[in-house]
Amino acid sequence: MTSTRRQFLQAAAVAAAGPAIIPKAAANAFNLKQFASEVAELVSIDSKSGYEEGSNKIINIFAKRFRSIGWTVSTPYCKGRGNALVATSHKNQDRYDVVLCAHSDTVQPVGNAAKYPFKLDGHKAYGAGVADDKSSLNAVWWICKGLPKHVTEKLNIAVVINPGEESGSDASRAFMAEQAKKTPIALIYEPGRGEVPGGAFVAVRKGSIFLTVKFHGKPAHAGNNPQDGRNAVYAMALAIPKISAVAKKYEGVTLNGDVVKGGTVPNTIAEHAEVTFDFRFMNDKTRDAVLAEVDAMCKKGFMEGVKSELVPPKISSALARTPQSEKLIGLVDKAAAELGQKKPRWLTVGGASDGNKFSAQGAAVVCAMGVVGGNLHNPQTEWSDLSTAMPRIQLSQRVLNLLADTGL
Ligand SMILES: [Zn+2]
Repeated sequence: MTSTRRQFLQAAAVAAAGPAIIPKAAANAFNLKQFASEVAELVSIDSKSGYEEGSNKIINIFAKRFRSIGWTVSTPYCKGRGNALVATSHKNQDRYDVVLCAHSDTVQPVGNAAKYPFKLDGHKAYGAGVADDKSSLNAVWWICKGLPKHVTEKLNIAVVINPGEESGSDASRAFMAEQAKKTPIALIYEPGRGEVPGGAFVAVRKGSIFLTVKFHGKPAHAGNNPQDGRNAVYAMALAIPKISAVAKKYEGVTLNGDVVKGGTVPNTIAEHAEVTFDFRFMNDKTRDAVLAEVDAMCKKGFMEGVKSELVPPKISSALARTPQSEKLIGLVDKAAAELGQKKPRWLTVGGASDGNKFSAQGAAVVCAMGVVGGNLHNPQTEWSDLSTAMPRIQLSQRVLNLLADTGL
C-alpha cells in the first residue's frame, strides 16, 4: 500500500468514526517505520560542522516540512556553518513562549555517512550521527506535527535548529544567543541518556572554561649564575596544586591543569611557563567566584621574582538549576506520570550543550529530551533506541499541552 493511500484510509477511518470517540493518540498515530526511514535519510547526509552543503540539505528538509503544516519558517545564514532554521507556530519570530532546540551538524567527517550507514537491529538504530542528533532532530518534527490546534494557537512554539552545535562559529554563536533571548523556556533535544536503563534526562550541564595562567621569571645560566634567575617552571609547579585546591571550596567545581608549556633548554633557568586548566562549574555565580579567586591568587603571585597572570578567559555559562527550571522539571515529571511513564531520572553532567546558551540568557531549560541513545561520536557503535521515540514524543507533547493549559 502506498503511504498516501494508507494515510487516506487512516484519515477516512478517523472521519467515519467521528471526533468524539477517537482518542487523541490515534489522530497522532506514531509510525515507527516512517520515523525510521526519515532518520535513515538524515543519517545518509554528511553534515559535519562546517560542511555547509550537507547541513543545508537537512535544514531544507525541515523547512519544507514545517511550511507544510503552516508554520512560519526562516533560515538565517550562519557564516562558516550554513543555514540555521527557525520555525514558529505563530507568525511572530521576535518572541517565543517555548523553544524546542536540536542541531543539524555532527562530529562525523564527510564520508562517514556512506561508510557507516543507517542500520536497524531490532529497535536499535546504528549509523554515523544517528543518536547525536539525527533521531532527536526528527523527533522534534513528530512532536510538532502531532500537536493539537489549541496548543499551537495558545503557544508560540519555536523550533530552533543550530547548524553549529558540535563546533560553533562566531555567527552560529551569535545566532543562538539571539534566539535564547527570545524565550523564557527551552527544551533541548540532545539524545536521552542511554547510560541509565530506559534513558535519563539532564537537569544540569556544567559550564566549562579553559583557564590559562602565564608565568614570567628571569633567565640565567643554570651553571654559571643560577642564583640570578627566577624559574617560571618552578613557580608554575607551585601554582598548580594551589589553584586546583580552589575547586574543593565549591560544590561541583573541577579544576584540572592538563596542559603545560615552559622553558627553552635545560641549561637555562626558565623565563616563561604556562598552564591551562579545564574549569567546570554548576552555575554562573560559582564561576564568577572561582575566577575572582584565581585571579587574585595570580596577582599576588606564587613565588618571589616570578610574575603570574590569568589570561582573560572566553566566558561560557552552565545549564543551571534555577527556581524556574525546577518548575519545568516538575512539569515533565507530571507529564510522565499522566502518561503512565516511569518517573524521569534527572542527571547532572559535565559536558555542555545548546542548553547552556539558553540558560545563560535566563531561560528555564531541560536537556536530553530526545530519543535515547549512546556511544555518541563513535560511528561504529553509536546507537539510538527507536522504541523510545514514541514515548519521548508523547512526553514532550504532554509537556506542551500542560504549558498551554497552565503555564509554568
Ligand atoms: Zn548533540
